[in-house]
Parts: sequence; structure tokens; C-alpha cells
Amino acid sequence: MNASPNIDLHTHSTCSDGTLTPSELIVHAAAAGVRVLALTDHDSTDGLENAASTAAALGIRLVPGVELSAAWRSQDIHVLGLWIDPVDPALRSLLKCQAQLRRERMIGICRRLQIARLPGDALLAAVQAKGGIPTRSHLADAMVDAGLVARKDEAFRKYLAQGKVGHVRNDWPALAQTIGAIVGAGGVAVLAHPGRYRLSGGARRRLLEEFTQAGGGALEVMSGANGAQHVETCTALAIKYGLAGSVGSDFHSHEVAWNPLGRSLKLPDCITPVWRGQLL
Ligand code: AMP
Ligand code: MN
Ligand code: MN
Ligand code: MN
Repeated sequence: MNASPNIDLHTHSTCSDGTLTPSELIVHAAAAGVRVLALTDHDSTDGLENAASTAAALGIRLVPGVELSAAWRSQDIHVLGLWIDPVDPALRSLLKCQAQLRRERMIGICRRLQIARLPGDALLAAVQAKGGIPTRSHLADAMVDAGLVARKDEAFRKYLAQGKVGHVRNDWPALAQTIGAIVGAGGVAVLAHPGRYRLSGGARRRLLEEFTQAGGGALEVMSGANGAQHVETCTALAIKYGLAGSVGSDFHSHEVAWNPLGRSLKLPDCITPVWRGQLL
């Protein structure tokens, strides 16, 4: 195994749908023994500056990152950009568009809920009051707070998932454009949580072909709570497509017990770690 117990390359803060501020995230990561941490908020790099100053004080290597939402054949695909330059003009302009798309989508979702005689207007106000980039996770929280559902996953299952009353199709940029923006900003594009997409084996292979051809560099082999079987499958795919391997908890909150920060994440020896050559 490649030694990677102190490396976590996929985490969220309050700048997207995490519950810890960027600085708190770094403090908790340090306490959990993480030495190298990527902050990868959904479509936002706003937390990187604060995270960097706390990381410098605590001796953590902060990898500047982002998790971009992209479209591939009408599927939402998440692509991590690691070691990006957050001030790259083209990336900044893409992030501005992503934030606008998210704000518009949230308005659209809440309008649909209101039409369905749910308190869409009040939910929208609650999400907007939280500030930062609006995600369905914020909306699910607002639905729990309003007593509409008992738990967040119930909000997704009943109202927000595809085919439900509050579902609005996203209009994210095409996968190749997203990868281009990451690579153009000096970053490595990593296909996040490959097990989370509803794809047939053939579609997954085509996704990986297109991801690689567009300049994608790595596959998230270990993500959150995925088990050994999943790691084996992803490792084989990464090797087949010439991709490096990445590891990340996808940490959002201490309330989610199954993906703690810096969860012991190890890459098999046969795969090139995405951090090779990056961590001197
Ligand atoms: P969005 O990017 O706006 O579509 O929101 C998706 C986010 O919601 C994901 O990044 C997860 O953090 C969260 N999420 C998705 N599905 C669920 C679920 N079933 N239960 C709780 N959180 C979820
Ligand atoms: Mn999230
Ligand atoms: Mn994701
Ligand atoms: Mn994530």
C-alpha cells in the first residue's frame, strides 16, 4: 500500500454545504492527524484563503481545491480540481457562472415546491439567509428545520431527487469544458466518487474514456465509506485508463459518522498517487 494515512483530498466547509468554517475544518483535520488536506467546496474557492492561514499556523499542507458540477449525457458529474490556481481568470469566471446557475436553480426548485403547496418561498428565504453557495443540502436542512421531514435523506427521497416535485434539471457545463478550466488553472482534474453515478458498466467506461481524452488526470479510488471491493474496481479502472488515484473522505459534517475527516485512506501500491510530484 502507498502510505497515505494523513492525506485527505476531498472536504467541504461552510463555503458550500459543510458545517465547519474553513478554519474550523483545518483545526479538526489537524486534531485527526491529517497532514495534507484539500478543501474542495462545491463550485467555490471562497474558503481557501482562510483555510490557508490556519493551515500555515498548524503545519498542515493545504491543497487548493474545488468540486465542480459538470454535465455528461444528462448526468451530474462531480470533478475535483486539485492544486488549482484560485485566481486564474477563466476559472474565476466559470465559478461565477456556476454560482449563478445554483442561485437560479434554487429559485426554480422553491417555486416548484410552492406550486405543490409546500412553503417554497419560506424555504428559499431560509436557504438564502445562510449565504454562500446554495446547494440542495441547504434546502434539505431547511426542510428539516421547518418540520416538513424528519431527516435530510427524507427530503431528497420525497422532494428533491430526480422525478420528485422539487427536482429541477441542472444546466451545468459539459464535462470537457470543466476539465479544461481545471487544467487551464494549473490543476489536476479528478473524477469524484465514481461509485455514486447511476451508470451501466459500458456507460462508465465511456465516461472514463471521455474524461481521460479531455485531460482528466485521476480517479477518486477511495471516497468516503466505500469498501474494499469498490477500491479494487476503481483501481483496475484507473490503471486501464492511465489515471492516477486519489483519496478523500468527502467530509461535510461530524454528524455524518461514516466519513470522518482523514478516515484511514490507503491507495493500493499498483496505482500512481495523484500527489506524486506535487508534495515535495
Ligand atoms: P447539489 O450539488 O445542490 O445537487 O447538492 C448535492 C449535495 O447534497 C451533495 O453534495 C451532498 O452533500 C448532499 N446530498 C445528496 N444526496 C443526499 C442525501 N440523500 N442525504 C443527505 N445529503 C445528500
Ligand atoms: Mn455536498
Ligand atoms: Mn460530490
Ligand atoms: Mn464532495
